[in-house]
Amino acid sequence: MTVNALSTGFYSADFSSGSLGLYDGSPAMMASAGLISALMQSLAAEAPAVAQPIWFETGRQWGASLINTVDQLVQAERGAPLSSLPFEEGAAYLQRWLPGAGYGAMAIETTGYGKGVVAVRLVNSLFVAAAGHAAEPVCHLYAGLFSACFSAMAGRELDCLELECQSMGASECLFIIATPKKAGGLRERIAAGEDRHAIAESLRAGGG
Ligand SMILES: [Zn+2]
Repeated sequence: MTVNALSTGFYSADFSSGSLGLYDGSPAMMASAGLISALMQSLAAEAPAVAQPIWFETGRQWGASLINTVDQLVQAERGAPLSSLPFEEGAAYLQRWLPGAGYGAMAIETTGYGKGVVAVRLVNSLFVAAAGHAAEPVCHLYAGLFSACFSAMAGRELDCLELECQSMGASECLFIIATPKKAGGLRERIAAGEDRHAIAESLRAGGG
C-alpha cells in the first residue's frame, strides 16, 4: 500500500513555490536513489578512506536534529520530553515517525538481543537501492542516524553498527545499537572473519 507522506502531516508542501517542509515549516528536500548513488560514488572516488565515517557522521548530525523534532512532537502530545519516557515508548514514537520519511520499512526491537542492545531491522533502504550489490554494508548514514537518536533517548552515548545489509544479499539490513564497548567487540569479531549472520543469530538468541 502506498500512502502519500504529505497526508501524515509530518511534511508540508507548497507547490506554487516548489518548496517542501516539515510540519513546523523548516525546509526539507527529497533525495532520489540517483542523487544518493552519485554522492556515494563521488565520496568513494575522492575520499575512499573517509567516505564511510563521513556518511556516519552526517547521519549522526542529522539524527541529532531529527530527534529534536520528534522530541517536540512528543512534548506536544505527552507534555513530557522524549528522554523521560520509558525506552520502549520512546522507541515506539521513533518508529511511528521515521518510516514515513522514506528510509525504508523499519522495525525497532528493544528486547531479545541481550542486555542493553537494541536492534533495528530495515528493508528497502534507499542506500541499498543506490548501491546495488556490495561486499560490505552500505547504509552508514542510517547507522549514524540511529546512533544519535538512541543516544539522545537513552541519555548516554550509544554506537551503532550495521551487522547485515541487503546489499550483501541479506534479507534485511540489521543495525545493532549498543554501548561503544559492546559495538567495538562486534566489529572485532567481524574483522576476525566471523560470519555476520552467525553473529546476528547469536545476538537474536540473547547471547553476546
Ligand atoms: Zn543496509
